[in-house]
Amino acid sequence: MVDKKRRLLLKGAAGATAVGMLGNVKTVTAAVTPADSSTTADVPVSEETHRVVIIGSGFGGGIAALRFAEAGISSLVLERGIRWPTGPNADTFPRASSIDKRAIWYEALDKIGTSLGAAPSIDQVPGLLNLPLGIKLKKFAGLLEPVFNKHMAIMCPSGVGGGSLVYQGMTLQPTKALFERVMPAGIDYDQMDRIYYPRVTAMLKVKTAPDALINSPTYQVARIFAERVTKAGYSVEKIPMPIDWSFALRELKGEMAPAYTNGDAALGVNNGGKHSVDVTYIAQAEQTGLVDLRVLHNVTHIARAGDGKWKVYVNVTDESGTLLEKKIFTSTALIMAAGSVNTTKLLLRAKGQGTIPGLPAALGTGWGTNADRIVTWSRPFSGFGGAIQGGPVIYGSKEWDNPDTANTIIQASLPPLGKDIKTTMMVGFGISDKRGTGPTMLKPMM
Ligand SMILES: Cc1cc2nc3c(=O)[nH]c(=O)nc-3n(C[C@H](O)[C@H](O)[C@H](O)COP(=O)(O)OP(=O)(O)OC[C@H]3O[C@@H](n4cnc5c(N)ncnc54)[C@H](O)[C@@H]3O)c2cc1C
Repeated sequence: MVDKKRRLLLKGAAGATAVGMLGNVKTVTAAVTPADSSTTADVPVSEETHRVVIIGSGFGGGIAALRFAEAGISSLVLERGIRWPTGPNADTFPRASSIDKRAIWYEALDKIGTSLGAAPSIDQVPGLLNLPLGIKLKKFAGLLEPVFNKHMAIMCPSGVGGGSLVYQGMTLQPTKALFERVMPAGIDYDQMDRIYYPRVTAMLKVKTAPDALINSPTYQVARIFAERVTKAGYSVEKIPMPIDWSFALRELKGEMAPAYTNGDAALGVNNGGKHSVDVTYIAQAEQTGLVDLRVLHNVTHIARAGDGKWKVYVNVTDESGTLLEKKIFTSTALIMAAGSVNTTKLLLRAKGQGTIPGLPAALGTGWGTNADRIVTWSRPFSGFGGAIQGGPVIYGSKEWDNPDTANTIIQASLPPLGKDIKTTMMVGFGISDKRGTGPTMLKPMM
C-alpha cells in the first residue's frame, strides 16, 4: 500500500518537475503536491533547486542558516510567517491588552474546533486565548497558531524569528546533574558548558535586569516576589534574559512608550531591545549574502525522490493567507526546523502518504506536556503596587539540589488590564517523570 502511494508520489513529483526549470513559471490547474486535492487552485507553479532548504526561521532554522553560511554553504529558508521589525514606539506587535488579527495564525482560525475531535470548540477559544468574548479576527499571518489536542493546547509561533518573538526569554543553564537526568546520553554536558552555553549567552547578549529598573515604581511586584520568597526560606536570583535593559530604562525616562515597564511584551516587544532570533542569528546569516529567506512560504508537504533529493511543496500566500502561487523546491539537504509540532505534522503527513520511506513507527508518539504550571498569585487586600506591572521576568527561585524534585518558580508580569486586579502571574517549571509519556499523541492533520 505504502509502495503504491510512493510510486504515485514519485510519478507526481516527476510530473511536477516537468513544469519548469529554476525560475520558470507556468500556470497549471492540476494537482501539484503528493496528495493535493485542491485542484481548484488556479495559480502559477514554479520550481527551484537549492543545495540546502531549511523549513522555519526560529532558533532551529536561524542557527542552521547561520552555521551553513559560516561554512560557505548557501541555503534557502522557508518561513510561513512575516517579518516583525521593532524599534522605539513601533506598533508592530499586537498587545496582550488589546488583541487583534496580528495575534493569530490564519490557518488556526479555519481549523480550531473542526479538525481535532475532542479539542475545544471555536466558542471556547476566546477564553483560552484571553480574548474578549465575541471577538472576530480577520485572517492574517499572525504570531500564534493554537493547536488543540485532547490533552494539550499548544501555542505554535509564526514569523521570522519563530518563538523567540513571543517567548519570555528566560535563559537558564542547567546543572550537570539536572542535564544528565533528562537529556539523552549522547549529548555531552561538559562540551555544552564549555562551548555552546557561552556561545548562546554571547549571541543573545543575555543580561539580568539592573537595580535602577527593579527599584522603579512598576517593578514593585518583582520586589514583593523576591521578599516573599526570601522570607519563606528559599533562594532568589535575577533571571538572565536576552534583553537590552537600557530600553526599559529609557521608557522610564519617557523616551519611548512603555512596553517593558508596563508588562505589555507578552506578544512581542514593540520597542525592540529584545535579542530575538530575527535580529541575531537570522540578521547575521542574511548579512553573509548566502541566505535567501522567503516569508509567507508555507510548506505543505515534503517528499524524498528516488534519487535521494528532497522535494518541498510550498504555498506562497499574501498576509491574509490567500494563495498566490505554488512552489516546488528540490534540495540535496533538508533541515526541518518548523518547531516540534509543525515538523512532526509534516513528517506524519509524509508518513501517511508514503512520500518519505523509512520513517520510524514511533513518529508522532511520546508527546506530553513540559510539566510547566502557570498560576496566578492574588493579594486581594494589599495587591502588588498598582494596575501596571513591569516585566517581563526579573526574579526566580531555583531549587535544583535534588535532580528528582528540581523546580524553578518565577514571577511574570500581567499585561496592563486597565484595572488593578491585585494579581500577578507565577510560572513553575520542573522535571516530571510523566513528561513526554502517557496517552497523548499528536494526530496527523492532513
Ligand atoms: C509563550 C512562550 C514563552 C516561552 N518562554 C521561553 C523562555 O522564557 N525561555 C526559553 O528558553 N524558551 C521559552 N519558550 C520556548 C521557546 O520559544 C521554543 O523552545 C523555541 O522557540 C523553539 O524553537 P524552534 O526553532 O524549534 O521552533 P519555533 O521557534 O517554533 O520556530 C519554528 C518556525 O517554523 C515556522 N513554520 C512552522 N511551520 C511551517 C511551515 N509549514 N512552513 C514554513 N514555516 C513553518 C514557524 O512560523 C516558526 O517561525 C517559550 C515559548 C512560548 C510559546
